[in-house]
Amino acid sequence: MFIDKVRIMVSAGKGGDGAVAFHREKYVAAGGPDGGDGGHGGSVILRVNDNLTTLLDFRYKRKYAARSGENGEGGHRSGKRGESLIIQVPRGTVVRDAESNQIIVDMSGDEEFVLAKGGRGGWGNKHFATPTRQLPRFAKAGLPGEVRDVILELKLLADVGLVGFPNVGKSTLLSVTSNARPKIANYHFTTLYPNLGVIYVEEGVSFVMADIPGIIEGAADGAGLGHDFLRHIDRCRLLVHIVDVSGCEDRDPVEDFDKICAELHEYSVDLSNRPMIVAANKCDLLPPDSDNLQRLREHVQELGCEFYEISAATTQGTKNLMRVIAQKLRDLPPITVYEPEYVKPVEEPCDPSELEIDHYGSTWVVSGVWLERLMNDVFFDDYESRNYFDRQLRKSGLFQRLEEMGIEDGDTVSIYDWEFTYEK
Ligand code: GDP
Ligand code: MG
Repeated sequence: MFIDKVRIMVSAGKGGDGAVAFHREKYVAAGGPDGGDGGHGGSVILRVNDNLTTLLDFRYKRKYAARSGENGEGGHRSGKRGESLIIQVPRGTVVRDAESNQIIVDMSGDEEFVLAKGGRGGWGNKHFATPTRQLPRFAKAGLPGEVRDVILELKLLADVGLVGFPNVGKSTLLSVTSNARPKIANYHFTTLYPNLGVIYVEEGVSFVMADIPGIIEGAADGAGLGHDFLRHIDRCRLLVHIVDVSGCEDRDPVEDFDKICAELHEYSVDLSNRPMIVAANKCDLLPPDSDNLQRLREHVQELGCEFYEISAATTQGTKNLMRVIAQKLRDLPPITVYEPEYVKPVEEPCDPSELEIDHYGSTWVVSGVWLERLMNDVFFDDYESRNYFDRQLRKSGLFQRLEEMGIEDGDTVSIYDWEFTYEK
């Protein structure tokens, strides 16, 4: 069974809690604070695996969770970082936010993607010691990891998509021109999942062609098999429309052609405007008195498409067709890679009263749910990100409140595992 659309839930690990502990040694009177930090929670990471061709594995497992970070301990021992969970997906997997349906990432390249970020570990009390506060009896809890509900959708990466009625010879064409060995038989819908084949035209010139299950009338409305599979040609740079001109199935080639075009249009206007060339197949079976070829050629050329005669079974004309395709591809834009659309909802401005401020001598420890979310969004290694964090803090009214509570220049502001010196 071919599975190419699934919904999964991923959750990153929670950060471990910081520890409250004090150094203890015989004959040493007052040990200093030595509670270690909690480890960061593991993230959920997507990685492309080219050995995968379907999303089948996801059908049986819908929930994915990375490990939490371990809590810190006394003796300056930091908690272990939670292991990240790597989810392997086939190349061409498009990830969408389940709620808004917006694209989060297109896994077409080789870069890994952090789908859910692990929570930051909390600081142990060893961080909170100052000359005036030698015995801090507090530490910070770790932050929760991100949770996401997403849809994975496989959209194959192929330069060329074969379209046409069932049984017209699409799979046969792919098999005689490429390394692919799709199932071929003389009945409808033998192809139940897409096949990809690489076609080597000459040294340095090759392309990928996809054979998808036949689309039929009504497919765009969800009838038959075709509808679901059309997404696999969404990215194709060129469509090759195969029409059976032999009349061996008692259908009219011109009608066939129009029906498939209508189907494509129904599914996506964008797809129906994709460059298309037409190949009349089964020319070897053409009855001598048939005008099928002539009629189809005129019809197709009137619409501005190039027209080729082939026989996939005898391979007559197939090599030439592949050369023509390679030539066309040279002038066409590259395979579509989808831009991310999803932007995290902008954080509501914070109500200053939501911020909890604890005051220990010259250290001001700030916490709150809003801050937790903000912290999870910020990469502190990145300048832009830190600026954003700073702006959000200013907007939140935090500094004003600290002023009111009597903060002084040079005091320390401590927010989870981030600390800075306060300057007016
Ligand atoms: P698909 O459903 O479009 O993939 O069609 P297939 O490639 O599975 O072919 C359907 C049937 O038509 C098979 O029995 C093929 O052997 C036959 N066939 C395909 N191309 C040709 C051709 O050019 N000439 C002849 N005589 N038969 C063909
Ligand atoms: Mg087929």
